Amino acid sequence: MKTWDVVIVGAGAAGLFCAGVAGLRGLKVLVIDHSDKIAEKIRISGGGRCNFTNRLLDASAPQKHFISQNPHFCRSALSRYTPQDF
Ligand SMILES: Cc1cc2nc3c(=O)[nH]c(=O)nc-3n(C[C@H](O)[C@H](O)[C@H](O)COP(=O)(O)OP(=O)(O)OC[C@H]3O[C@@H](n4cnc5c(N)ncnc54)[C@H](O)[C@@H]3O)c2cc1C
Repeated sequence: MKTWDVVIVGAGAAGLFCAGVAGLRGLKVLVIDHSDKIAEKIRISGGGRCNFTNRLLDASAPQKHFISQNPHFCRSALSRYTPQDF
């Protein structure tokens, strides 16, 4: 019988990212999805550009690229975790 350290239900952005991090930490990971096509929302997000991974994003001022009542909301997170990190 196979055993796993981590079982993730859902191969979307969150599940796949979690699986990648767990794998990098040396854990045996199983990802389960009920769909034939996994990561479908990643494929269509941002009209195929997926704005969080936009290589043209100015990492020193990411708030320029996001519409929000508080444009600095994303600055801290995106300054510490750039598209290159992703
Ligand atoms: C048209 C569109 C455009 C978007 N544009 C952007 C954008 O420009 N920028 C941005 O940041 N975000 C965008 N998003 C949002 C982004 O795609 C989502 O926030 C992100 O994909 C959510 O990831 P998730 O892993 O939480 O969920 P999901 O991507 O929904 O993944 C969940 C997974 O779990 C599986 N699942 C669900 N229930 C079960 C079950 N019971 N058993 C097994 N598997 C199951 C599903 O099949 C799916 O694969 C967009 C979304 C859409 C729909």
